[in-house]
Amino acid sequence: MRVAFLSSEAVPFAKTGGLGDVAGALPKALVGAGVDACLIHPLYDTTDRGLIEEKVFDNLEVDWLGGRRTVSVYLSYAAGAPAFLIDAPEYFARGKVYGFGDDHYRFAFFSRAALALLGRLGQAPDVLHGNDWPCGFAATWLWAGRQWGGFLGQTRTLMSIHNLAYQGLFDPGDLYRLGFRGGEESNVFMSNGAASSLKAGLMTSDAISTVSPRYSFEIQGHEQGYGLDWLMRQRRDRLVGITNGVDYDVWNPETDPHLPAHYSAEDLSGKLECKLELLRRFGLPEEPDRPVVASISRLVAQKGFDLIKHVAWEMLTAGAFFVSLGSGEHEYESFFQWLKDSAPNRVGIYRGFDEPLAHQIEAGADIFLMPSLYEPCGLNQMYSMRYGTVPVVRATGGLDDTVEEFDPEEGTGTGFKFGPYNAHALLDKVREALYWYTRKDAWGRIQSNGMRVDNSWGAAARKYVRLYHALFDL
Ligand code: ADP
Repeated sequence: MRVAFLSSEAVPFAKTGGLGDVAGALPKALVGAGVDACLIHPLYDTTDRGLIEEKVFDNLEVDWLGGRRTVSVYLSYAAGAPAFLIDAPEYFARGKVYGFGDDHYRFAFFSRAALALLGRLGQAPDVLHGNDWPCGFAATWLWAGRQWGGFLGQTRTLMSIHNLAYQGLFDPGDLYRLGFRGGEESNVFMSNGAASSLKAGLMTSDAISTVSPRYSFEIQGHEQGYGLDWLMRQRRDRLVGITNGVDYDVWNPETDPHLPAHYSAEDLSGKLECKLELLRRFGLPEEPDRPVVASISRLVAQKGFDLIKHVAWEMLTAGAFFVSLGSGEHEYESFFQWLKDSAPNRVGIYRGFDEPLAHQIEAGADIFLMPSLYEPCGLNQMYSMRYGTVPVVRATGGLDDTVEEFDPEEGTGTGFKFGPYNAHALLDKVREALYWYTRKDAWGRIQSNGMRVDNSWGAAARKYVRLYHALFDL
């Protein structure tokens, strides 16, 4: 089974969120499961050049905007599977991954170049696995190309949804220039008057996967479907949910190079050291018995910050420290700044993206908050569990699939979950967690339960392999 895995971000080349973690780990896990998998990824100016092994092509020709464009392609093994990095500086040397008015041109070009690369490599993959809206163009070109026959005529396509809310919308007037003909080739893009590369990819791929079973059902409903629930219902026999794994080479408190001390489920003493170091890092008093409640996230409404705003002060009055890492919407950034200014001895904030600090917070915190409005899978709750940090989550999407509610009588469970999206429900759960934090035996049990859960990629990779094979039985 030969698989070309396309992604606009993948650790260690680029990361803005969970997709980066997944695309950095899944190709490696596929190789481990016996698949001949490669990653195809843009070469950003922010990508560490030290990761590059060699230049493989300096003259890959790509049909583009009615003409031809030549790019270089580099090879890296830093993600554990061969990764081809496409070097097109005018599109990918811009200091960040997304957020430009011509993003649809940038990633349409990436998709086009990926297909040209496969042609140049001369071995058609059995499956082209695209991820999120940047890869919708590739699936659509393949679908359109299949009608013309050709090199990739036998290649099946899988599109994975990591977040249905990001749909790659653009002006349909650009479709022709991008190389899509009228008629059906343009219709597949149309979504409420705009063109959507995600919708086109989901219309034209042979199958669709998303990153947790629960989310695969939720997106078939109006509330989470973001206008595409009809399509998810229409294609539900081609839609599966496979829960993301954790890359324990990267997220493991026994070996994590970012931590001041290491620890395991058998011996948690190093976690206390991590906590004290974290408090020092944020200039907070070294009070080890006071619980640290933490959040690491893009500061967007999806992640439940409207609820956190309502309960933050109550958490402090209940005796907790609060630590937040992330940047995003002004409303939430200024709220956290206000909270920090109001309670400087209890609150630590870092506005920005900082990978080592994310690891240090996972290790040093006691409780991790993820009260998301919706959550396709979510990774930090799984990282938290491995780091002995107890998650408090809303029972939605992958959070519901991966966190088990603590049952004090049975001593089972890995965290605390609430259902309704309101601040009272969150506050009740935070208070419950803070109560159990004071009962050291019970707390140790929850930590140990979470640390022993096996969320490694192996099982998920095997499910993808079965899915790839199933694409040939459709
Ligand atoms: P999403 O993909 O919606 O952002 P996930 O929970 O799936 O959410 O993945 C988020 C990933 O990004 C995690 O690895 C998390 O640690 C990381 N992350 C989010 N914000 C930051 C930040 N400010 N600094 C460092 N890492 C971050």
